[in-house]
Amino acid sequence: MTQQVWFITGSQGLYGPEVVEQVAENSQRIAAALQESGLIAEVVWKPTLTSKDSIRRMMLEANSTDECIGVIAWMHTFSPAKMWIAGLDALCKPLCHLHTQANVELPWSTIDMDFMNLNQAAHGDREFGYIESRLAISRKTVVGHVSNPAVAKRLDEWVRAAAGAAATRSMKLIRFGDNIRDVAVTEGDKVEAEHVFGVSVNTYGVNDLANAVAQVSDVAAESLCAEYQDRYDVAPELGGGGGRHDSLVYSAKLEIALRGFLEVHGATAFTTNFEDLGTLAQLPGMSVQRLMADGYGFGAEGDWKTAILVRAAKVMGQGLSGGASLMEDYTYHLAPGQERILGAHMLEVCPSLTQQRPKCEIHPLGIGNRADPVRLVFDADPGPAIVVSLADMRDRFRLTANTVQIVGPDQPLPNLPVARAVWVPDPDFYTSAECWLTAGGAHHTCISTAIGADTWADFAEIAGTEFALITKGTTTRAFSKELRWNQAYHRLARGL
Ligand code: MN
Repeated sequence: MTQQVWFITGSQGLYGPEVVEQVAENSQRIAAALQESGLIAEVVWKPTLTSKDSIRRMMLEANSTDECIGVIAWMHTFSPAKMWIAGLDALCKPLCHLHTQANVELPWSTIDMDFMNLNQAAHGDREFGYIESRLAISRKTVVGHVSNPAVAKRLDEWVRAAAGAAATRSMKLIRFGDNIRDVAVTEGDKVEAEHVFGVSVNTYGVNDLANAVAQVSDVAAESLCAEYQDRYDVAPELGGGGGRHDSLVYSAKLEIALRGFLEVHGATAFTTNFEDLGTLAQLPGMSVQRLMADGYGFGAEGDWKTAILVRAAKVMGQGLSGGASLMEDYTYHLAPGQERILGAHMLEVCPSLTQQRPKCEIHPLGIGNRADPVRLVFDADPGPAIVVSLADMRDRFRLTANTVQIVGPDQPLPNLPVARAVWVPDPDFYTSAECWLTAGGAHHTCISTAIGADTWADFAEIAGTEFALITKGTTTRAFSKELRWNQAYHRLARGL
């Protein structure tokens, strides 16, 4: 299914049919320019809207068209906004208000009143903004000519967010087992999550998966092991003829069974729990890492909320360099002036965080009480990233985010056989951690190196979810106040 964003233009009949024709011509040019700017969805131009009924019909059509992930609206001329009330009220798809105009420069020497009436977005979009605000319509507003790369970038971020929101709307998430025992932050209201994000979260017995593993043939597993040899530096003991090759074969069977299980159920995200492994012989490690690399969302220890974020980040980051993964704040380097966070997980970090060739290794794991698990080991590539957590605050979900800079480890980590990332958070370690703890952000996050804070902010806006961002310029005092205001706002906005 090709995803679409609809480009709709408002005008009115007051200036005569020639003006409406000119509006149509100009708005088709704008739509084509948007498409050429590289948006990830097809831009579908729609005929100019000049009446209450045509507007309402267009919005109802957008609602009922599965391919349509959002609507971009622009008022080329003045467009009296009372005729937009019924349509905006009916619209359920994400809305972006593009405040642009056909021309870049004013034609100073030739400008007359006809030109003024035709190119009147400065006036028409203000009228439109008023009715959007009066009706409390959630939207993104983008200002500027479409030839401006900054405008194209902001629209690209919004379209990506709309694609992420569309993905969670239709998302099925499989949990193998429940949440890890006694942990608070990985819990949450799954019914509310289906209302807010659209995702359907359901549990399956882990032995259903174990039975599927038992049915995978040796031939299929060996052929996958050959692919591992091509793509990773496989430890000699795991290779064909190596003393522990059977462990690699089992890991391959786990991957084939997991992938098949997700496909059969139409699921795009999943969780595991090391406390509930049934008859599985190994804790899923490399299999999970590879499924994440193929775009599946994942959360460890039953953390379905982080699995939602990882899947959304995969969709929002499509076609960009970088990746997204489950991450966990593990331990700190607190040398003054060089503070860093070492993030990792016991196994499951996605190799999309590196361009390097991962190592495929096997080591003991104190957790899970199973045979030694196979895993991919690498360092996340240096560069900008963002960590995002999703917490259930009882009456709403809160997305807490922090922009960070991934740096290499200061020294080699020869005794740490897991994939990991070392980062310096914005605006500095102390402010970051104080704010994160004040917000009640989780220790599990989705780390993304492909998309940034603006895309996540748009995603939160579309979902109607709180977004608390820690970034350059953030102070603990202002952030604490923002959280309090958010608390009041989200309770009021929710209604009774
Ligand atoms: Mn964990």
